Amino acid sequence: MRIAFIGLGHMGGPMALNLHKAGHEVQAFDLSSQACAQYGEQGLSIAASAQQAVQEAEVVVSMLPASQHVEALYLGRDGQDGLLAHIAKGALIIDSSTIAAVSSQKVAKAAAASGMGFIDAPVSGGTGGAIAGTLTFMVGGSSTDLERARPVLEKMGANIFHAGDVGAGQTAKICNNMLLGILMVGTSEAIALGVANGLDPKVLSEIMRRSSGGNWALEKYNPFPGVHENAPASKDYAGGFGTDLMLKDLGLAQENAMAVKASTPLGGMARALYAMHSLDGNGGLDFSSVIKKLMP
Ligand code: NAD
Repeated sequence: MRIAFIGLGHMGGPMALNLHKAGHEVQAFDLSSQACAQYGEQGLSIAASAQQAVQEAEVVVSMLPASQHVEALYLGRDGQDGLLAHIAKGALIIDSSTIAAVSSQKVAKAAAASGMGFIDAPVSGGTGGAIAGTLTFMVGGSSTDLERARPVLEKMGANIFHAGDVGAGQTAKICNNMLLGILMVGTSEAIALGVANGLDPKVLSEIMRRSSGGNWALEKYNPFPGVHENAPASKDYAGGFGTDLMLKDLGLAQENAMAVKASTPLGGMARALYAMHSLDGNGGLDFSSVIKKLMP
């Protein structure tokens, strides 16, 4: 299949590489020349622009930071036309960025008017899942478009869920990430308390992992340096899922909660904590670095 892949960041780079390794004809592009060079060296074919990447593409995958990037890419900005003007009619767009459901719906509507299919397919599983090809996809869109996307998604992920119509994937994703943001703070608090009492963070983490406090952070993504060798915490919080991206997702959750009059007090508190952590200059560090705010 001819696939255009836009956005070669922490997640998009390894995802595009998995499509390439699976034998798809991938044309990739990122605004960062460093990212293009890095993945070009690993075998990806790099296009000169997003417009060039989508020429002749049957499927377009995007993995960008936030709503404004996705809207600007497909719909255009400042009088410049968007990618929809360059993608072939009949093509399918898979946007895997985590963005507002309303933004997905806006792009999907414009794509449909231009004769293209669109699904929102945000992911969970972190950079480890992106590299291993074991991501979980949460899809919003028609069953027909999902079945067209399935052979592509299967090369990047191990679980594919159909959450509902366009936008539903994004809603599932912000529910998940609100929980993740809260549980990382809770896990950090518990470890910080134990360490303040002289406990070994490795021993304490293992006790909690096998007890009723067990969770994903304790399994795979411990926020304390040195507990998990491959977690961002053990690499000075480099790579992984940026604090500012978590802040964006918690903001999306709060906006959504206001719109539907849901009560999400812990999500709100977690958002405030990550916002203070970002203001302290930690926005580019992995979100598990929030433990620094809680250590004695
Ligand atoms: P990132 O910042 O590492 O990568 C985003 C890339 O998009 C950058 O390389 C940037 O140069 C590029 N970009 C921005 N605008 C562009 C444009 N118009 N054209 C081409 N390239 C453009 O972010 P990431 O960590 O890869 O995350 C991407 C998305 O996935 C975000 O929405 C994030 O919330 C979500 N997500 C991230 C993780 C994670 O663990 N990092 C996990 C799940 C979901």
